[in-house]
Amino acid sequence: MAVLKVLVLGGTTEASALARLLAATPGFDAVLSYAGRTRNPLAQPIATRVGGFGGVEGLADYLRGHGVQALVDATHPFAAQMSHHAAAAAGIARVPLLALRRGPWVAGPEDDWLGVADMAAAADAIGIARRRVFLTVGQKEVAAFRARPQHAYLIRSVDPIDADALPPEAVLINARGPFEPAAERALLEEHGIDVIVTKNSGGTATAGKLAAARDLGLPVIMVERPAVPPVETVEGAAAALDWLCGHAMRLGA
Ligand code: NAP
Repeated sequence: MAVLKVLVLGGTTEASALARLLAATPGFDAVLSYAGRTRNPLAQPIATRVGGFGGVEGLADYLRGHGVQALVDATHPFAAQMSHHAAAAAGIARVPLLALRRGPWVAGPEDDWLGVADMAAAADAIGIARRRVFLTVGQKEVAAFRARPQHAYLIRSVDPIDADALPPEAVLINARGPFEPAAERALLEEHGIDVIVTKNSGGTATAGKLAAARDLGLPVIMVERPAVPPVETVEGAAAALDWLCGHAMRLGA
């Protein structure tokens, strides 16, 4: 039986879900690509590779060199550079591209959210007066908050963060979701948190803090998503598998 060669750009829950579906479905020879940011990435049921490709040309070379027949961009909504590279490289190598993205979180009537464009604006929005801040923005982004050293920060990230990237008053928690609303509420209460700063990642795994904020009447500073290229997009791993199956049928793979 012929197989369809697929490259999945990963680093998300959705990429892992698609990897499981591809492992369980005959007719695919799939590789999941990690940037290599986390120290202990989850084990996967398909082949993996780790590390950057070397820009757009490097990715286009990889696609051609490995005979990739379909590319799925299942990177995080904030991994915008990789998404732009994927769109450009897929065009150069003439490989069909699908983006697998979760929808953004949307505020309800009982939420107190302030949308901001980037981390610097988020740090500004905390205000002048000292506050106790719960920061869940990813390890790369924490350094922006060193510019606001008057606040006390509770910072959660998957991996440890270098001390020189941290604001002076910081408590660090290393944990990987999912996080339940009740446990999130207990954490916010235990640390006397006044405000939450987060990226609009979407999905359920890390939405518990938003429900907890709503319950406690806490404000949320929400960093909105960067622009990504307008490529064909689906929301769930099952829809991505459907797209790949359709593509395999068209190619007679
Ligand atoms: P980025 O800024 O868009 O990408 C920076 C560079 O990292 C890319 O140009 C590429 O290097 C390399 N890269 C990114 N994703 C890759 C992948 N899946 N496979 C191979 N190389 C990759 O991305 P980022 O924000 O650093 O995120 C890196 C990874 O972490 C992504 O896979 C993303 O899904 C995951 N992640 C990101 C966030 C976030 O908030 N940014 C949150 C959770 C998970 P080359 O140019 O050399 O190819």
